Amino acid sequence: MPINRRHLLRTGTLALGAGAPLMNTGPVAAAPRAAAATSPGTAGAAAEVTADAFLRLKPGSIVPRGWLAGQLRLQLDGLCGRLTEKSHFLDFATSGWVHPENNAWEELPYWLRGYVPLSVATRDTAALDRARRWIDAILTTQQSDGFFGPRALRTALNGGPDFWPFLPLLQALRSFEEFTGDTRVVPFLTRFLRYMNTQGKGAFDTSWVSQRWGDCMDIALWLYRRTPEPFLLDLVDKMHTWGADWTGALPNAHNVNIAQGFREPAQYAQRSGSADHTRASYRTYTELLAAHGQFAGGGFAGDENIRPGFGDPRQGFETCGVVEFMASHELLTRVTGDPLWADRCEELAFNMLPASLDPDGKGVHYVTSANSVDLDNSRKTQGQFQNGFAMQSFQPGIDQYRCCPHNYGMGWPYFAEELWLGTPDGGLAAAMYAACQVTTEVAGGTSVTVTETTDYPFGETVDFTVSTPRSVRFPLLLRIPGWCAAPRLQVNGKSVPARSGPAFVRVDRTWADGDRVSLRLPQSTTVHTWPGNRDSVSVSHGPLTYALRIGERYVRYGGDTTFPEYEVHATTPWNYGLVPGGGLVVKRASGPVSANPFTQSATPVSITADARRVPEWIADDEHVVAPLQQSPARSAGAVEQVTLIPMGAARLRIASFPTASPDGTPWQPEAPYRRIRNKHSGKVLAVDGMSTENSAHVVQFDNSGTGDHAWQVVGRGDGWSLIRNGHSGKVLGVDLMSTQNSAHVVQFEDNGTDDHLWQFVDAGSGWFLIRNKHSGKVLGVDGMSTQNSAHVVQFEDNGTDDHLWQFA
Ligand SMILES: [Zn+2]
Repeated sequence: MPINRRHLLRTGTLALGAGAPLMNTGPVAAAPRAAAATSPGTAGAAAEVTADAFLRLKPGSIVPRGWLAGQLRLQLDGLCGRLTEKSHFLDFATSGWVHPENNAWEELPYWLRGYVPLSVATRDTAALDRARRWIDAILTTQQSDGFFGPRALRTALNGGPDFWPFLPLLQALRSFEEFTGDTRVVPFLTRFLRYMNTQGKGAFDTSWVSQRWGDCMDIALWLYRRTPEPFLLDLVDKMHTWGADWTGALPNAHNVNIAQGFREPAQYAQRSGSADHTRASYRTYTELLAAHGQFAGGGFAGDENIRPGFGDPRQGFETCGVVEFMASHELLTRVTGDPLWADRCEELAFNMLPASLDPDGKGVHYVTSANSVDLDNSRKTQGQFQNGFAMQSFQPGIDQYRCCPHNYGMGWPYFAEELWLGTPDGGLAAAMYAACQVTTEVAGGTSVTVTETTDYPFGETVDFTVSTPRSVRFPLLLRIPGWCAAPRLQVNGKSVPARSGPAFVRVDRTWADGDRVSLRLPQSTTVHTWPGNRDSVSVSHGPLTYALRIGERYVRYGGDTTFPEYEVHATTPWNYGLVPGGGLVVKRASGPVSANPFTQSATPVSITADARRVPEWIADDEHVVAPLQQSPARSAGAVEQVTLIPMGAARLRIASFPTASPDGTPWQPEAPYRRIRNKHSGKVLAVDGMSTENSAHVVQFDNSGTGDHAWQVVGRGDGWSLIRNGHSGKVLGVDLMSTQNSAHVVQFEDNGTDDHLWQFVDAGSGWFLIRNKHSGKVLGVDGMSTQNSAHVVQFEDNGTDDHLWQFA
């Protein structure tokens, strides 16, 4: 039963991190701004919505330089830039977005959303022309009622329109309009949103779109500020009221839905004026990371859905999740003005995003993990990840990964666009840092250019030079990251007070041509302890997280030089624990930073650390690193010096380390996962519907290799064992602790009751009985059925063959 990721995974409402501490959201400016009379570009019409704390600059205002320009160029020459040559979803001659009689879904909208800002950021006119060709064609498909694109989408969702695949396309059209000034776009979007507003509740409250209305709310509010049509506010209210409720417990467990959805209440606060809505987004982020993000890099464990009990750093975060989370953090920086969100975006951009792509930018994988010691193209069958398909090799993955190769393209271009933001009082804010040049109007009309020179995040100094045709007064805001305790700021060589982060420092003065600002953000080395992952540790220096440098052997198993497919295997040991209190020495190579510093060979920074091998920590027989055990782990190994490099430069990595010492806790070898086969039917023990819920029925099924067929026998002493399911992490038990014959056998969380303990009794010839401690009965198949999905039950030991089992 492979999970089809085109279908919404219905796991029901999932209370966030049961037992997770309700953490303080910290020093935030969570209160929405007072209603502003106007926003730029409107004439006093937008009073029904509050203004953003910061304003997006027109696309094209920022010219990336340095390594960021290098990453964008790599992307244009790599998978995203050439995806139309490879993806059958992007075939202009057949796409339903151009030919409405054909079907189409999210792939073209995803790709165009990244490709338009990529062509703008790289100033590549040929790329922009290619984007324009698609947009010209799409604009001509609009019908008189406002609908456009594939006709089948009108009735694809319970007989009504399926709006989800439209949303990324609306964002692509906005970017295009803002850069080109194309006068067709605003009326086009207005007509389409008007059509949306005529739909009933059923078009809002089900499927993917119900989780992702924040994307459309962004467009509707943008449009309202351009053309204040009252129906747009009506539509915003419907999205919030009828869409999934992101103000309380998570309405959905899907990693990408969460990465997009959690910000919706803070967006709606612009309409409601309620600080509670803003606080809800803060609270969800904090609780989510506390429960499922107990490792470095800024992501969370969601190798399709978040799953209780699967929070080890070996779990993955989907590439779509990485870029959507970044886009959410960028949006929240603008909406709230809180520098914390920009910190979080940088953390993902510098650590997770490069790690999700191959070093040449020609391939992606589906999930990126903080700990990952082999990237092969083999499916995992023991429930290590939730999905049953291979997710780790770098490849175009048009059909295997499908969403991610089409969607990842917005990561760097959006990041580049959000480096600088406008302030409502005519100033400029440096929200995130990378070498670039920004040209925009300040103080009501003077066009200025600020040139930003820096190696950040590989260096700690950011220099700015102002070019202006005349002296002009405007505020310049500079973000101080939360990790920076002692920033130093100088204007034309004179010190200016700057407080520790997270903060924006405001320099409000009259600027003259050639004025210089120098910001120093001293980086210190920090060891973070993760109590939620057995007191493991991670090492950061400034905004970069560091990972063990593991020898990487790239094996091309398919594709060609334009679209290669790679596995990556380790050539050096990786099972190290860090020595508590051991030395950490930072090294920085001299010379300019490479255009592609997110590689082992080109990274300009490294850290030497004291470490000991933990020999019992191994990968399983499917090459997945075993989960962490309690730190400090016992190690009698000699202290060695290992090299750590930025996580973003490490395609294989250990970023969450155990600590290791001679008197630590012994590391227990992982019990293997095995299939348990019935003698009578030949089928294996499985969980009905691959459920992860408590009390889900245990059944027999053909041995088809899914993770719910994998069971781990965990000794609990005196010959009794837990039988733990690989997919759900739950253990075999008897429904309601019954002692009756034919009582259903179920899975349940390991809560220590006797019906969870089983004994393997040798019955000869390699077969055994599996006896329950609480009832004394043995595992059998209801009615001695030989059918798939027949219930597994307990029964008195009466010698029938359906009571005999063996490891398959
Ligand atoms: Zn994806």
